[in-house]
Amino acid sequence: MPSGDVLVACQDAALTFGRGPTAVVAVHGANLSVRAGDLLAIVGPSGSGKSSLLHLLAGLERPTSGTVTWPGIGGPDDIGLVFQADSLIPALDVAENTALPLVLAGRTDTETHRPVTEALGVVDVADLADRLPEEISGGQAQRVAVARVLAQAPRLILADEPTGRLDHATGARVLDALLTAADRTGAALVVTTHDPAIAARLTIRRTVREGRLLAAEDPS
Ligand code: ADP
Ligand code: MG
Repeated sequence: MPSGDVLVACQDAALTFGRGPTAVVAVHGANLSVRAGDLLAIVGPSGSGKSSLLHLLAGLERPTSGTVTWPGIGGPDDIGLVFQADSLIPALDVAENTALPLVLAGRTDTETHRPVTEALGVVDVADLADRLPEEISGGQAQRVAVARVLAQAPRLILADEPTGRLDHATGARVLDALLTAADRTGAALVVTTHDPAIAARLTIRRTVREGRLLAAEDPS
């Protein structure tokens, strides 16, 4: 595949928290490229470094050593984030939460109405548009978080344990929504998970263990 298709690349990217004897190496020199169209699962148990790696891919953390580059990303608007839970703004209703990235990018209410309505419809929460986050379930809130990314239409969607606090059936629906969002917008999708059943639904799987991203061919 031509290298122009690479959206984000880590080269020997490491992330250490703290200094000295109490320092924690959350990510040891990771090598990873995410290309347009990739559907990638980063799989590992709690504390293995999944969130840290995802934060490096998002630019939310700078690598302590090594590099992270975004050759195929135009700017922050090209990266959509979905977190484990509680990523909606409590004071905004579902439609306003979904419109937020577009509003922050300078779009007017008239311009956001259509993409927001469409996005809420795609993930099957259109009837919740006027509700506040406290008035919907955890699974519904996660689908609203996916709708927000869908309306934003980024080139890269990064989802950190988006199904982590949901029961299996609800989690599967949220993953359906993420896969639909990636498909509709042509975005690459990276999902961290400790659940092999979730990982199995993505086309590429990489395992993290104790901060080490295992090589693609390593058996997990
Ligand atoms: P996962 O997402 O797989 O549960 P994390 O990336 O959150 O793993 O954490 C990896 C390691 O880094 C853990 O040992 C965790 O305690 C540590 N860690 C994560 N964030 C911080 C932080 N902000 N400060 C100190 N240590 C951290
Ligand atoms: Mg985590």
